Amino acid sequence: MPELFIGGKWTAAADGQVREIRCPADGTLVATVDEAGPKDAAAAIAAARDAFDRGPWPGTPAAERGRLLLRVADLLERDKDALARAESLDTGKRLVESEYDMDDIANCFRYFGNLTASGGSDRIVDTGNSDADSRVVHEPVGVCALITPWNYPLLQTAWKVAPALGAGNTFVLKPSELTPHTAMILMRLLTEAGLPDGVANLVLGAGPTAGAPLSEDPRVDLVSFTGGLVTGRRIMAAAAPTVKKIALELGGKNPNIVFADADYEAAVDYALMAVFLHSGQVCSAGARLLVQDELHDRFVDKLVVKAQQIRLGGPFDENARTGPLISAAHRDKVEAYVAAGLAEGAVLRCGGARPNDPALRDGFYYPPTVLDECAPGMSVVRDESFGPVLTVERFHDEAEAVALANDTVYGLAGAVWSQDVALAHRVASRLRAGTVWINDFHPYVPQAEWGGMKQSGFGRELGPAGLAEYQEAKHIWRNLSPSPQRWFE
Ligand code: NAD
Repeated sequence: MPELFIGGKWTAAADGQVREIRCPADGTLVATVDEAGPKDAAAAIAAARDAFDRGPWPGTPAAERGRLLLRVADLLERDKDALARAESLDTGKRLVESEYDMDDIANCFRYFGNLTASGGSDRIVDTGNSDADSRVVHEPVGVCALITPWNYPLLQTAWKVAPALGAGNTFVLKPSELTPHTAMILMRLLTEAGLPDGVANLVLGAGPTAGAPLSEDPRVDLVSFTGGLVTGRRIMAAAAPTVKKIALELGGKNPNIVFADADYEAAVDYALMAVFLHSGQVCSAGARLLVQDELHDRFVDKLVVKAQQIRLGGPFDENARTGPLISAAHRDKVEAYVAAGLAEGAVLRCGGARPNDPALRDGFYYPPTVLDECAPGMSVVRDESFGPVLTVERFHDEAEAVALANDTVYGLAGAVWSQDVALAHRVASRLRAGTVWINDFHPYVPQAEWGGMKQSGFGRELGPAGLAEYQEAKHIWRNLSPSPQRWFE
């Protein structure tokens, strides 16, 4: 069966190209799928444009659009097992993590379903003029290009698809070329839920050939992108000539700040989870540990012992606690950052070399790695390695902690650990990041906005602002008693 979904039909790639999808845990062939090129992207844009300009979806009452999203949430729950399995085969992540993701995805659709059905934020404006009726209504932006990464394939897709549909848009989705399967299943569920043909379109393929045409095409009104900083800059440049709306959810180099008075056991445990979850392939990973001087040795010693105990393994190995990296090229990149860090003076405390275990030979595994005595200028501290690599820096006091934490071009997330509530809130308010956790790491909820400051991007996903990204506010003014003004007399 062909794998591109355009105008309500499953379609093969126009040029007959295909791509092999292999599981990063052991290299097994998951499937061979159609590989879209510019012609397919153009066809998908045409279908989405037509569905927006002539189809029923943008004018469907918000309550009905909301109900459709709630039906999708039910279908996602029904098919959770198949979805989680597909996600794990594409990404190599543990099945249990994919199952958590599927719960979050259903919750995301449910949240935006209820928000949409509640009628939204249209309002009557009090102009102080009894001869005028003034109201602000919210309309869909139009045709949206939704471009997503491989680390949380369906989750990042859901954060875009649910609000885009809730607001009445049509879209072309381009998931990462490495992880296409859950996007394909989602298209089937949207159809089953009753979405009209042409509203949802799917192109699978590489960024430069299947993705770039989406940000360039004048028929696209908005590009919502989640991915790396370099690609984000390209998309921003490609969207500029047609002044498209864009939202960019880019990378992070997130500080995890631990003060000496932190709850020791909890802070060590969360520091591990912060950085080694999904082998560090998390945009909000706490990859920079900043520890107060007097706690440093005790903290890092314990962390290293625990990091060495983290078992690597494939998605269906119940004893494994984390999985492989996504590709050979990505592992090479992570290794290069570790080598550069060591050359620049970092001290290797654990990890730092590919595992010897023959059972892991065919996957792209890399062990949890701790680099101590790091300094702000090092490339491994500065850049997003997006792997299981923790850099450790020391600080003396609150001011230095804040300065080190903010010494990055990124501004996605960060955490502060202290039992002094006032101090923790002071630091939280001074961190230039879109999300700050106090005595915690990683939680998010669909009701609260997610997004970056600085070069982590702009725009917000989730929360009421996550819906507003996909809406245009329009002011409609009605003169209730028009009479000649005689301005020119
Ligand atoms: P990537 O930038 O390589 O690719 C992301 C998507 O963009 C893919 O679908 C890719 O095919 C497409 N793409 C590539 N070049 C393109 C182009 N010229 N035009 C249009 N599309 C193009 O990122 P990745 O390696 O898939 O994902 C990892 C990155 O994503 C990390 O930097 C991570 O921090 C970031 N990320 C951010 C968030 C967030 O919420 N801020 C969430 C998840 C991941």
